Formats: sequence, structure tokens, C-alpha cells
Amino acid sequence: MCGIVALVGSQEAAPQLLEGLRQLEYRGYDSAGIATVNREGLLTCLRAKGKLVNLSQRVDQQGAPGQCGIGHTRWATHGKPEERNAHPHRSGDGGVAVVQNGIIENHRILREGLERDGVVFQSETDTEVIPHLVSAELKRRVADGDPVDGTTLLRAVQAVLPLLQGAYALAVIWQQAPGALVVARRAAPLLIGLGEGEFLCASDTPALAGFTRTILPMEDDEVALLSPLGVELYDGEGVRQQRMPTLL
Ligand code: GLU
Repeated sequence: MCGIVALVGSQEAAPQLLEGLRQLEYRGYDSAGIATVNREGLLTCLRAKGKLVNLSQRVDQQGAPGQCGIGHTRWATHGKPEERNAHPHRSGDGGVAVVQNGIIENHRILREGLERDGVVFQSETDTEVIPHLVSAELKRRVADGDPVDGTTLLRAVQAVLPLLQGAYALAVIWQQAPGALVVARRAAPLLIGLGEGEFLCASDTPALAGFTRTILPMEDDEVALLSPLGVELYDGEGVRQQRMPTLL
């Protein structure tokens, strides 16, 4: 079982992502990584094999600026536990970053289709198909006149999810929508935390407890757009959901 932490708010994301990942260490992992995006649209992705301390040293040395980001501790299922297979995975242009917990069962056929379209893969994981698919969908939508914003990222992820078979929880950021974070789950845990001016998402409550006691557990096939303005939650059919959060 790996761990996901993701957040968007008004403070630097990297220290909070690392702290959240520390709280998920009990789940076991072989590598870890984070990606952040800052207001200027700089997406930074840092990963390291082994213990979280390796990743935090890299973050200290290289920096990961931005108030929106995703983090992951990986338990390898597809591809060896090496840095190139650690999450986040990115699209070819580096603009979309994804973390995923679970298994994309039909990744091979998706990968073959993307490779026929000229995509060059950087890892052996099942997960890497997702940033490539989301990026292609974003490019189509922007070319068709959709705005470059979080709603378009949400719509792109919603268009890609039906292509994925398996059990997963995932989080996606896009450098062109620096204040937006899209998360989704099917048969893998994911909880949204509603903080003071920040919104988080994690695989389990310990990663949220330091930030907030107000929790919105996601249900199967739900997708959410998190931004500094709040949370939009949708079911698998794209219908907006309104639920009262619970207290930890
Ligand atoms: N299947 C993915 C991988 O091998 C995610 C594994 C996990 O849940 O950590 O990278």
C-alpha cells in the first residue's frame, strides 16, 4: 500500500507534503516523490529511491516552490523500485504530473496506443499512461477553445478516467492551472481534508490530522477539483455532489 498526499492553499506545499508522507510511512514504501507548481507555472518534480529522508534532502537542496502539489510513497507493482519508476510521473512536455495508488490493469494496451502516437515513456510503470492521456486531452480541449484553468483540468481527467481499468486513487496537477488539483478514486481510499484556506487529500487520516479535523471521504468513482476557493465534488456521471463533511 502506498500513500498519496496532495494539497492546494496559501502556504508552501513541499514541507506539508513531506510531513503528510511521513505520516503515511507506516503503510510501507520503496521510493517517494513530490511535484509542486508555483504561481508562475513552474512545475518541479523531485523523486528518490528509498527512505523519505532521501527525498527531503533533495527538496532541501533543489527546492520545490509552489502552493499546490502532490506527493507519493510508492510500493512497486509495475516496474522495479527505482527513481525513474517513482511517482510523480509526467507528460512528455513535463506540464502534467500524476501520482497513483493502485494498479491500472489495462496499462499495456493504453501504452501501446500512446506509443503509436509518438509518446516516449520514461518509466516501466502502469501509472505513466495517465499523465500522457491527460496531457493529450488537455491539448485537444485548449485547441478547441476551452479555457486554460482548473475546470478544464477537471474535464480532461473526467474524460480519461473511463479509459482506465483497475483500482486506483490518483491526484493530478497541471502547470498551466497552478491553483488547481484534481483527485479521483475507484476502490482505493482517498479522503479530502478541509483546512483553513487550504484543501488537502490523502490516502489515510494521519496525513490530514495535522492540518484539519474536517474530512470528506471520497466514494468510488468520485472526482474532485480542489482550489483555494474550495472543493467541487462529482460522481462518476459528472453530477455535482453535496455532502456534509465529518469530524475526525
Ligand atoms: N502500480 C503503481 C506502480 O507500480 C503504483 C503502486 C503503488 O500503489 O504504490 O508504480
